[in-house]
Amino acid sequence: MSNENQELRKAGLKVTLPRVKILQLLEQAEAENQHLSAEDVYKTLMEAGEDVGLATVYRVLTQFESAGLVDRHNFETGHSVFELATDEHHDHMVCMESGQVVEFFDEVIERRQRELVDAHGFELLDHSLVLYVRPKRR
Ligand SMILES: [Zn+2]
Repeated sequence: MSNENQELRKAGLKVTLPRVKILQLLEQAEAENQHLSAEDVYKTLMEAGEDVGLATVYRVLTQFESAGLVDRHNFETGHSVFELATDEHHDHMVCMESGQVVEFFDEVIERRQRELVDAHGFELLDHSLVLYVRPKRR
């Protein structure tokens, strides 16, 4: 049984061709640190000659999200992007001109957030930090 099939079953999802194809794309994107919109997934499948409609892509991504397989980010660039859910925490910067998403992890920022929360009498459960950026002007 392929990796994707196992992943789907583990998440409690039946193995269907669109689900396998979309999971493969997300795994490929993960390897390249990319974040895909539903439209990106749809276009890539179409170019590969796969007959999967945009509505199906949306539905599968939503199912993946509910099953905890993927994380959805609603960045302020117009559309949601998706990436495989991982145990490793990272934050994002998003280019407002190109839509490019860059992942980063900064131990100083992480520590300061915990200290800040602690100073307010709380403990930190989770956070997401998004920096909206543009290319430097010369
Ligand atoms: Zn990410």
